[in-house]
Amino acid sequence: MNAGDGRIRVLIETAGGAITPLSASLLHLAADLAESRDLAVHAVMYQALSHPHDLAAAAGRYGASVVAVPETEMDAIDLTAALVSDRDQDPGLLLTSATAVGREVAARVGARLDLPVLHAATAVEWRDGRLVVSCPALDGKASARTVIDAAPTLGAVVTVAEGAFSGVEIDGRPPARIEPLHRAETDAPWCPRPHVTGRALTPVDELGLDEVDVVVAGGMGLGGPEGFSLLRELAELLGGRVGASRMVTDRGWISTDALVGQTGATVAPSLYLACGISGAPQHVIGMRDSATVIAINTDAHAAIGQVADVLFVADARKLVPAMIELIERDRSNLAGTQA
Ligand SMILES: Cc1cc2nc3c(=O)[nH]c(=O)nc-3n(C[C@H](O)[C@H](O)[C@H](O)COP(=O)(O)OP(=O)(O)OC[C@H]3O[C@@H](n4cnc5c(N)ncnc54)[C@H](O)[C@@H]3O)c2cc1C
Repeated sequence: MNAGDGRIRVLIETAGGAITPLSASLLHLAADLAESRDLAVHAVMYQALSHPHDLAAAAGRYGASVVAVPETEMDAIDLTAALVSDRDQDPGLLLTSATAVGREVAARVGARLDLPVLHAATAVEWRDGRLVVSCPALDGKASARTVIDAAPTLGAVVTVAEGAFSGVEIDGRPPARIEPLHRAETDAPWCPRPHVTGRALTPVDELGLDEVDVVVAGGMGLGGPEGFSLLRELAELLGGRVGASRMVTDRGWISTDALVGQTGATVAPSLYLACGISGAPQHVIGMRDSATVIAINTDAHAAIGQVADVLFVADARKLVPAMIELIERDRSNLAGTQA
């Protein structure tokens, strides 16, 4: 790619009007990559905003020169159509968060523009004029490095997971220029819009770990697979599902569907109960956005204590049955008073 003729587009998301930390880290990564190649960083929003100027100022501090904002909120299909509408331009690099919207847009844009799509990148860098993207492979046991030629043009879509990079604001950078993000044709055969024909409530045990409100997770401190029978009982009482650390799924105490963390599910339930889990960074990355974290650990200094709202220094094999008994007793008392 020649100097100055390319761009890196970054799909950004906001929460409460502010750029999310994950989107900020994407912008910072883009600015780093753009700097040595004289590329422009264009942020793209799909949410409509009442105060785009605040967003433009923040996007500028993270390194974007342009921020495209729609007039009304766009879904993944509108956004894809908007992103692929200028097919005459070089596609450049598109960075998205590995969120539901980010992943869907990445897949759709990649398919439409026939670009490689690399998921959950942990490193993105230039080497000898080519873009090198590292992503977890083999269930996180290895890292796969993909080398993308940047000449004559660069074209790739990369999603990035929470925690892989950090966003650094640089004061003194000018605000990004606000541009409208125009709606494009979305009824094209390549981009069919799904029609909702009905809705059904899914039983909690058929929901994904990232969809439930309560996760009761266990680790090595449970001492063996039998500890998970207790967790299942507790999860059922709380209307949740059982999660697990990698050490226990590796040992086959519970299936890998339950794995939470870097190589498993990323969850953010209302309540995350961590029983006998040490709180290794690879685990914490998958649950730290939970609204309330309660941990049970025999070690008062276990790292899980740093993310927990409450840490019970106790034997999980004793405290979990006691919790089950207490909840059951409470419920039967409640049923008695209502009868
Ligand atoms: C590339 C890579 C990817 C990884 N991905 C993941 C991932 O996605 N998810 C993940 O979880 N890990 C992952 N890991 C593994 C991670 O580093 C830790 O090894 C793992 O999370 C530890 O599991 P644990 O907390 O169950 O076990 P341990 O670290 O052994 O901790 C057990 C804890 O239980 C406590 N304890 C002991 N007995 C009791 C008791 N009776 N009651 C209460 N507490 C008790 C101990 O004090 C200790 O804190 C990954 C590692 C690598 C290298």
